[in-house]
Amino acid sequence: MARYDKKQGWNKTHLFIQKSLDKINKDIPKKNKSIIITDFGSHHFSNANFIIANSLRENGFDVKIRPLSECKPATPDYWLVSILTVQQYLDIPKFFKKINKNPIREKRDDKTIFIAGGYPLGSNPEPIADFFDLIGIGEYDDIGDMIEDDTQFYRPSEYDVNYEEDGSVKDTNQPKIKKRFVSEFTSDPQLMYGKFFQTEISRGCKNKCPYCQLGWGRPYREVDKTKFFNIARKIRNFKSNKFNPWSSDLFGVSYIKEFMEFSEKYNIKTDFGSVCLNRIKEIDKIRGSVNLRIGVEGISERLRMILKGKKITNDELIEDIRFGIEEKNIGTIKLFFMYNYPTEDKDDIYNHKEFLMGLRSIKKRFVLSLKYTPIQPLPQTPFQFNKFVETFDNLIMIKEIDGEIKGMEKNYSKVQRFSFPDTRAFFTALERGGRYWSDILLKKPNKDNWKELITHIINPQKLLDYRKYENIEPWDFIDVGFSKRQLYEIYKKRNGIKGV
Ligand code: SF4
Repeated sequence: MARYDKKQGWNKTHLFIQKSLDKINKDIPKKNKSIIITDFGSHHFSNANFIIANSLRENGFDVKIRPLSECKPATPDYWLVSILTVQQYLDIPKFFKKINKNPIREKRDDKTIFIAGGYPLGSNPEPIADFFDLIGIGEYDDIGDMIEDDTQFYRPSEYDVNYEEDGSVKDTNQPKIKKRFVSEFTSDPQLMYGKFFQTEISRGCKNKCPYCQLGWGRPYREVDKTKFFNIARKIRNFKSNKFNPWSSDLFGVSYIKEFMEFSEKYNIKTDFGSVCLNRIKEIDKIRGSVNLRIGVEGISERLRMILKGKKITNDELIEDIRFGIEEKNIGTIKLFFMYNYPTEDKDDIYNHKEFLMGLRSIKKRFVLSLKYTPIQPLPQTPFQFNKFVETFDNLIMIKEIDGEIKGMEKNYSKVQRFSFPDTRAFFTALERGGRYWSDILLKKPNKDNWKELITHIINPQKLLDYRKYENIEPWDFIDVGFSKRQLYEIYKKRNGIKGV
């Protein structure tokens, strides 16, 4: 991500994009239409937004980039707001306050068309539907070609939605809307800092884990191999010492082994990002001491069977980690676990203890980082039918086990981070919610007060509970390329549920 400096503006990071823009901008007929882009990452500007800015400039628009902290009153023709996480929904009222406009669309009398886009909106835009004129559903790398065609966006003002007590939809006139995907994406490299470059190598994920929007939210595509190596060679010529191709699961990319040989040959360091479980042995070209991030997900063998769909025993996992540390010189292993699955019990937690104890057999010293997050039943995934477990009981047991093991670790020093159920409950409710959230967002909700604020509209407990297949959910009107029935069948299979 590019950094913003108050005095200097955006630093000279986007060499490739910026150079091509300067060239392009000379010959493009100007459209006389102004656009401001605001990234709610505030001090950062994502690569996706540079691509969007590039596409708009190529089409003759006058584009300015304003981080949230630098927003002030203005009346451009379009104001694009980029929202990368559901947590950033909380910044929407602040944004409208900074630019001195009414946040509620219907109360705003303004020539500016406010368009929101970003990852969470592609799964469910309804929680912020009352704020924006148009909402992008999916990918808009080519936005410069079609921003003036509002049929390419979701137009919330045209639809009415009423809700049941559990947050499902009572009645609506929303038609089905197809999520947009581009067939080819730019993959322009971004300079992060120093001579460290990053570029997107693939989108989507072939693994399709049943809880993951990255797997279900987009079809899998990868950058053409020849194009990618042209970029890699340019970066090598720039004497880059670090280059990360970005992907949800790098080892799923068909030509990744060739890239690893390339980076080995030219002494370019690569961070492998998060690695899918059981991939450690594929990293046969790793040099030096590196960090490895692995999404283990299920805390026990039984839960890994549900979450990953395959038997991955503690012994296999320990053996993979041993291989990485003892034979490939990896210094830090970061493991990500999800806890509070609806059927998780004491046996799962004891099984997790066995795993932690088993790591003592590794003969080389290493740093073990463990991160525990409550599993969220997210829209547009098979586990959307699950309930969210709000209890702290399992977290307390996991912490107790960690306390017991402390001091018994022979070869590893341990770092833990826990994400708490009450915070995740709040964000799960927001992700699963309808457009009633826009009003609640104006009241500064947080993990402690959201239930109280929302209870006159829907029942917060029911919103977080199991969902029936027959319910119409606030996001059901988005066609993401697979049916709700397909998701439901996977949910049933993973949970051993028989019948309809
Ligand atoms: S491997 Fe990772 S990114 Fe891919 S679907 Fe599974 S959890 Fe998501």
